Amino acid sequence: MSAKVVSGKELANKIREELKDKVSQFIEEKNIVPHLVVVLVGDDPASQSYVKGKQKGCEQTNMKSTLIKLPVETKEEELIELVEKLNHDETVHGILVQLPLPKHIDESKIINTISVEKDVDGFSPINVGKMVLKEDCFLPCTPAGIIKLIKETNIDITGKHAVILGRSNIVGKPVLHLLLRENATVTICHSRTKDLKEFTKDADILIAAIGKAKFVTADMIKPGAVVIDVGVNRVDNKLCGDVDYENALEVASYITPVPGGVGPMTITMLLENTFEACKRITK
Ligand code: NAP
Repeated sequence: MSAKVVSGKELANKIREELKDKVSQFIEEKNIVPHLVVVLVGDDPASQSYVKGKQKGCEQTNMKSTLIKLPVETKEEELIELVEKLNHDETVHGILVQLPLPKHIDESKIINTISVEKDVDGFSPINVGKMVLKEDCFLPCTPAGIIKLIKETNIDITGKHAVILGRSNIVGKPVLHLLLRENATVTICHSRTKDLKEFTKDADILIAAIGKAKFVTADMIKPGAVVIDVGVNRVDNKLCGDVDYENALEVASYITPVPGGVGPMTITMLLENTFEACKRITK
């Protein structure tokens, strides 16, 4: 068997093209340009590259982006003050504080400060609570992108056994809830899970989000499974996922590549959330 590659890059480009048209029409009708503000504290190279991708995405979809770069020694109170100012700025529709933040800043305090209406990352406790309760909210970007990628395969998610590796607040846990919404039977595994392979071998849909290069080997995958690789790891200066891609291709029915899989979808979901925030705020 050779798996079909589900290209996040292609799907993302398609969604961005459609979004660009909708945004252009909105600007023409309302004379308001959706505006995302990204705050970057420090000079972590990976964060800088993620921020660049977000700015490029805004350009592609005719939205405005502003990058506010702050030095690594920025105090927590200063960052809170900035976020509060952005909350009150009517020309700003989405606020994203790039994570991780330097150790001396409490991330949860910052996320809690972002107004729910502008929390386009969907990380605030209110947005998370609404997601769990299936209320209207901004869905977190990576999990929302993962669901779109699974749907792109046209498999019926209902009743499938989905196994998630990783229980982080930004990937594993929200993916669990979004898959439950789709009527999957979901198992979530983590570093303390015993006999991990027993779970992965039973997965119709396997989502790897642990941050360990090529951790998921072909013998851990059920033949015909859909494999979504969320991991981003750097090995010998090259990006690779959490799945041993070349060998997994022989076992899975569908698989996402790294790079070009989940990553572009994450940014695309952020762009959709920003446009949605703008429409809601300017209603
Ligand atoms: P994280 O916060 O570090 O969480 C990692 C999770 O993996 C934890 O729940 C951990 O378990 C679990 N884990 C670690 N080793 C394990 C093992 N040997 N067996 C089973 N579970 C194990 O990571 P994250 O933020 O969720 O990110 C995960 C990966 O996805 C990273 O490579 C990250 O760069 C990537 N990512 C990509 C995107 C994108 O848009 N492409 C977005 C977000 C993240 P414990 O809870 O027990 O410690």
